[in-house]
Amino acid sequence: MATEIEPKRIAILGSTGSIGTQALDMIRDQSAHFTVELLTAGKNAELLIAQAKEFNPNAVVIGDESRYAEVRDALFPLGVKVFAGAAAIEQAVQMDGIDTVLTAMVGYAGMRPTMAAIEAGKLIALANKETLVVAGELVTKRAREKAVNIYPVDSEHSAIFQCLAGEWDNPIEKIVLTASGGPFRGWTREKLATVTKTQALKHPNWDMGAKITIDSASLMNKGLEAIEAKWLFNLKPEQVEIIVHPQSIIHSLVQFRDGSMKAQLGLPDMKLPIQYALAYPQRLATNWPRFDFTKYPSFTFEPPDLEAFPNLGLALEAMKRGGNAPCVLNAANEVAVEAFLQERIGFHEMSDMVADRLAKATFVASPTLDELEASDTETRRAAHETMNSPQWRS
Ligand code: NDP
Repeated sequence: MATEIEPKRIAILGSTGSIGTQALDMIRDQSAHFTVELLTAGKNAELLIAQAKEFNPNAVVIGDESRYAEVRDALFPLGVKVFAGAAAIEQAVQMDGIDTVLTAMVGYAGMRPTMAAIEAGKLIALANKETLVVAGELVTKRAREKAVNIYPVDSEHSAIFQCLAGEWDNPIEKIVLTASGGPFRGWTREKLATVTKTQALKHPNWDMGAKITIDSASLMNKGLEAIEAKWLFNLKPEQVEIIVHPQSIIHSLVQFRDGSMKAQLGLPDMKLPIQYALAYPQRLATNWPRFDFTKYPSFTFEPPDLEAFPNLGLALEAMKRGGNAPCVLNAANEVAVEAFLQERIGFHEMSDMVADRLAKATFVASPTLDELEASDTETRRAAHETMNSPQWRS
């Protein structure tokens, strides 16, 4: 019989985003198991205020300091502590009274707060994959030193983690990350040149934030996930395989040294991996829709098209090179995705930008955190400079 657990005290970094709001939806349904201690947002003061009024956290942080007064005036009378700015997120995450930090900020901005949470010995439920892409070696080393567990939220990594339960002493031969293929699966390189922002923002199976949706359309997301998996599960690059599975029901697989493969299946709904990461090792009862075999008469698999989607190959190459290469890849990609979302560059120019930066950036084999910060800053500067140069579009 399962024993009841004490409610876990949760901090959500990025509570106003796709993962953050789904985490709060889950917590609303599982209120006996969780309390909300800290919520942080970037700019969305209105939603942060509404969330704080409902979940009554100890504190909130709004990243955008220009929205501070608005949030303070709304929440101070309720006894909620209100802070603002990036440094305040790093400090707040270390507060006493927090057990687990859900890192659901998007992009590089999530790295420092995640490190701060590890320093303070908090359990990590990691959605912010860019943290491990940029600084996987340093982050996982520090987590081991501080005896901090990092539980994956990404559905593929959650699947692998679930497959590994009870197998901790059995070496992994390889893992297979499944990919939906995104909205442009089967498109040729020529046809992809015409892709618009509106088309790229429509994912067939998942409803996610803008950046990861574009990364999914360009297959960069799968490359970032490969690097994330390497660090989470201590793998060599050649132990990570990627297969396109358009139905998004098999979330990923592990193959052990006896040849046996284990997979985790379920309908595509991020609430499940979020809940698994926050409630681990318990599985909490839910009434979410169940998988129905009659609606899925077949599962299909195909190799990813690396020629049409060069971003995936670039990410796998950066993973093999190691050092600061994944940091450069990530920074160039963040600039490229933002420019694509602003309709300043086209679909292929995103991977052109990443390839250009990877080819030109100075390689650092064993970067410190400061060197990674410098690589990130320099890559962004150079990417903007290139994008604004007359040669870029010629
Ligand atoms: P969203 O864009 O929907 O949300 C991002 C969140 O981060 C928002 O709360 C936003 O605040 C906040 N934020 C952004 N920039 C800053 C900043 N500089 N300082 C403080 N807060 C900031 O992203 P998603 O929820 O889609 O993704 C979050 C992370 O989870 C990403 O790393 C993604 O790769 C990963 N992930 C997401 C999945 C999904 O289904 N969405 C699946 C698996 C992984 P605000 O909106 O208030 O500005």
